[in-house]
Amino acid sequence: MDKESKIYIAGHRGLVGSALKRKLESKDYTNLLLRTHKGLDLTKQQEVNDFFEQEKPEYVFLAAAKVGGILANSTYPAQFIYENMMIEANIIHASYKYGVKKLLFLGSSCIYPKFAPQPLKEKYLLTGLLEETNEAYAVAKIAGIRLCKHYNQQYGTNFISVMPTNLYGPNDNFDLETSHVMPALIRKFHEAKVNNEPEVIVWGTGKPLREFMHVDDMADACVFLMENYDFSEIGEFVNIGVGEDVPISELVKIIKEIVGFKGKIKYDTSKPDGTPRKLMDVTKLSSLGWKANISLRNGIKETYEFYMKTQRIKIKIAI
Ligand code: GDP
Repeated sequence: MDKESKIYIAGHRGLVGSALKRKLESKDYTNLLLRTHKGLDLTKQQEVNDFFEQEKPEYVFLAAAKVGGILANSTYPAQFIYENMMIEANIIHASYKYGVKKLLFLGSSCIYPKFAPQPLKEKYLLTGLLEETNEAYAVAKIAGIRLCKHYNQQYGTNFISVMPTNLYGPNDNFDLETSHVMPALIRKFHEAKVNNEPEVIVWGTGKPLREFMHVDDMADACVFLMENYDFSEIGEFVNIGVGEDVPISELVKIIKEIVGFKGKIKYDTSKPDGTPRKLMDVTKLSSLGWKANISLRNGIKETYEFYMKTQRIKIKIAI
């Protein structure tokens, strides 16, 4: 990629897309192509084709997706599978048709079988049954990976895929019904502190293990791969993670301490735990010369500051 290359970030307002935009801008990439949902509906093939024909992007970061936490995924599986498959198929096909030089597709760690050995190696893809709470999303993401692979095989394109672990950071979704655990807990502890509530309710048993990565690290890894490695060198896809996980109960303790909540914690075991563990094997990524930089504590502190800032803006607008 040259600094003047035309780079399309699909999903630039989301958690990952906005981090990619920050990273590319900080590295002086000057020709970023961005569209909001209003200007371009990525589930509509004709709109996507027209956009690619007109704009002819040279590089594509495919970070647009319908995403959500455990409850949203299990409540709206039809929307998760349909919208994600449409977005991927439309963008990947248009990228081939209009000669995109390189595309990076973002998958997810939930593509791995529920009971795969840990840490999760790239070769475990499609070796067992998926976790049911997010099966619809996972199937769509697996389809995206295979679209890239088969377009490369048949058409000689250069489409690479990455599998990020659980991400968090600025511009995350803090809605309690649809978010992932990290933003949900930041918000729950903050509101409980401000309203002097006696306890915070955490879903599940607190026993599942999860690996968390700050989205700025993720964006850094994606740009690193786009700049340095082609499909022929890295194969079908690469895991992106920090290589360490924590029980949800430990995450709860850290967030409680950072937010400064003094009350009790109650586990609501009527809510699902999801997959027991999801730790990425990052041997491949390390061997390519990249590793994560942002510690869990610093990342949470920064995300909490972002959350408080957006809350203050909301209060100001309401006034
Ligand atoms: P997952 O990684 O796909 O399972 O998605 P989540 O990030 O939504 O959930 C991770 C784990 O955190 C699960 O075991 C949840 O039950 C647990 N968890 C605890 N409290 C919450 C909460 O308030 N919101 C969410 N989304 N998950 C929670």
